[in-house]
This record gives sequence, structure tokens and C-alpha cells, in this order.
Amino acid sequence: MGDTIFGKIIRRDIPADIVYEDDNVLAFRDLNPQAPVHVLFIPKRAIATLDAATDADAELLGKLMLAAAAYARSEGLAEQGYRVVMNCNEHGGQTVFHVHLHLLAGRRMQWPPG
Ligand code: IMP
Repeated sequence: MGDTIFGKIIRRDIPADIVYEDDNVLAFRDLNPQAPVHVLFIPKRAIATLDAATDADAELLGKLMLAAAAYARSEGLAEQGYRVVMNCNEHGGQTVFHVHLHLLAGRRMQWPPG
């Protein structure tokens, strides 16, 4: 599961506000929310960065995207809209090296991002 804080959350070694779980994906609220809704979707099988992903991860990454979309729909966020973001490595702003998709919603997003 990877030796990161997210691995610890998957193992329930540390607490998290979990909002969704299935066999492949776990989702929990970000500790430092950047929008009224800020949820992180992570694969239970750790991939360090998007750059480290291979063809073997295609289905898992697809499931991550679809889990975020289904969650947004179920929470009534899809009609107004939302943003999903995956940061990769230093210049992308990645701080936790276990792939995760940010779901941000509840306010109008700006473009371009900072
Ligand atoms: P990154 O910068 O794209 O790697 O995103 C990492 C995110 O994880 C940041 O938005 C942090 O606020 C969040 N984060 C770090 N530790 C925890 C935690 O223990 N619980 C929930 N979110 C966390």
C-alpha cells in the first residue's frame, strides 16, 4: 500500500474522514480543504506518481476517475460542476507520493490554476 500517510489511512493506522470506499478506491476529506468540498480519491494499490503509472494501471486509474465522478453525482455536485486535479512531482505541486485525485467543488474555480 506504499509507505506514505495515505498508506496509513488505507490501513486505518491513522484516522481520516472517509466518504467512499470500494475494493479498489478509498476517498476521504482533505485535511486542508481548498474549496467547500475537497475530497481525495486514492487507489488502494499505491502508485507513487502519475509519471510512474504504466499500462497495467490503466483500469485502476480509470476506476479512480469514475469513482470521483460518481461521488460528485451522488452528492449533487455535478450539475454546477467541479474540478478534478492530479498533481505530479515537484513542479506539479505533489507532496504525497501515492497517486491521488483531488475533487474540488462548491465554488467557482479559477483558470489558469496557480
Ligand atoms: P498533493 O499536494 O497533490 O500531493 O496533495 C496532498 C494533499 O493531501 C494535500 O491537499 C493535503 O492537504 C492532503 N493531506 C495530507 N495529509 C493528509 C491527511 O492525513 N488526511 C487528509 N488529507 C491529507
